[in-house]
Amino acid sequence: MESLQYQGWSFEFDKAATRGYYASHRDECTCASCRNFHKTIEEMPPDVKRFLEGFGIDIDHPIEQMSVIALKKENLVEQQVQYCVKGTAISEEGHEIGIGPVQIAPLNKNAMANHEMEEPYFGFALYNMYFHWTVEDDIDEVYPEQRSLMQKIKAFLSRAK
Ligand SMILES: [Zn+2]
Repeated sequence: MESLQYQGWSFEFDKAATRGYYASHRDECTCASCRNFHKTIEEMPPDVKRFLEGFGIDIDHPIEQMSVIALKKENLVEQQVQYCVKGTAISEEGHEIGIGPVQIAPLNKNAMANHEMEEPYFGFALYNMYFHWTVEDDIDEVYPEQRSLMQKIKAFLSRAK
């Protein structure tokens, strides 16, 4: 077991076991969003990449990948991904970890789907990380237009009158 103190968190982890897990668990999904993630993986900020790889995580193979927000003018899409790590994560306050604009929420195993990692394990959920849309697929089809929160509130208020 190795340990790391970082932004109020105490991590105890088994880097070799985590590496071994990623070597045998591969993301097989071929949807446009996953393909784009793999294709643009090098856009992950270096500090985030270094943090994750320090635990033995293979950043190209998240256990969950989701992308619902697109900034179409900038041709960017948000990449929400989760990774699991063999070990434990403890914090008094439980704040999210911030690395540049990227938010990293440590997850306890109860907040995660079972990904065939034996206990003890924890996860990291990454938010607010944007990669360019570089696959052939039409961004408008993959990310249909969504109303902003402000528009939704306005629509709700006008209905309530
Ligand atoms: Zn997918």
